[in-house]
Amino acid sequence: MFDLLIHNATLPDGRQNMSVAVLNGAITDVREGLLASAGTVVDAQGQLLSPPFVDAHFHMDSTLSYGQPRVNQSGTLLEGIALWGELKPLLTQEALVERALTYCDWAVAKGLLTIRTHVDVCDSRLLAVQALLEVKKRVASYLDLQLVAFPQDGLLRGNQGPQQHLQNLQRALDMGVDVVGGIPHFERTMADGALSIKLLCELAAQRGLRVDMHCDESDDPHSRHVETLAFETQRLGLQGRVTGSHLTSMHSMDNYYVSKLIPESVIINSLIDFPSRIT
Ligand SMILES: [Zn+2]
Repeated sequence: MFDLLIHNATLPDGRQNMSVAVLNGAITDVREGLLASAGTVVDAQGQLLSPPFVDAHFHMDSTLSYGQPRVNQSGTLLEGIALWGELKPLLTQEALVERALTYCDWAVAKGLLTIRTHVDVCDSRLLAVQALLEVKKRVASYLDLQLVAFPQDGLLRGNQGPQQHLQNLQRALDMGVDVVGGIPHFERTMADGALSIKLLCELAAQRGLRVDMHCDESDDPHSRHVETLAFETQRLGLQGRVTGSHLTSMHSMDNYYVSKLIPESVIINSLIDFPSRIT
């Protein structure tokens, strides 16, 4: 007798009328039309039965904040970042936790059981970090939540001096945040962008952590920080632990440069939102 039998399911590979049997927390049988007794029997009514979904890139500290403190009029990323800056001083830990938990309920209801979320570390109070660490603890039994320490305003451009955001980020890691984030294209100069990648990758290497950077999220074909990220990944032996996300500048780059860049960048673990290029 099984603990759980789900029958009449469609599997991701297209097979229909499939049964999946579970015993002691493990899938023990998958076959068409299996009839067996089980503690719980679920008729999937032909619907999709799949492994849990994974969201590899989210910003849970700003979830469900639409209209706070006002709506994004231009719809642009830059206004979105500015809006987040306006909202930050108004945030409370309780509200952050409540909104994030609401989102987690929605996510789990849709089959998402693993989420990697960035959390802004530029506010020295680290309210969002505390809030999401609390949320991570509360949902741990049913949702795998991984946090990325994200210097949203740029690692090297803090109002209180260039070291402030780096110190905040290190404090966030000390508190238990899992992954080192970055935003090199948002630093003041290309040189600062490259320096931020170097500092952050070295920090990850020292601490044995993963890296997930917003990288070249612009239309500027000369925003080429992903090559520095690939170089630092190789230099520090971080292969398989680094993610570059967005990379939208690639759609504006010339083909010759991209033909050189892509072989260099495959050592990065994953490139998220990697734009499809028409050559
Ligand atoms: Zn993002």
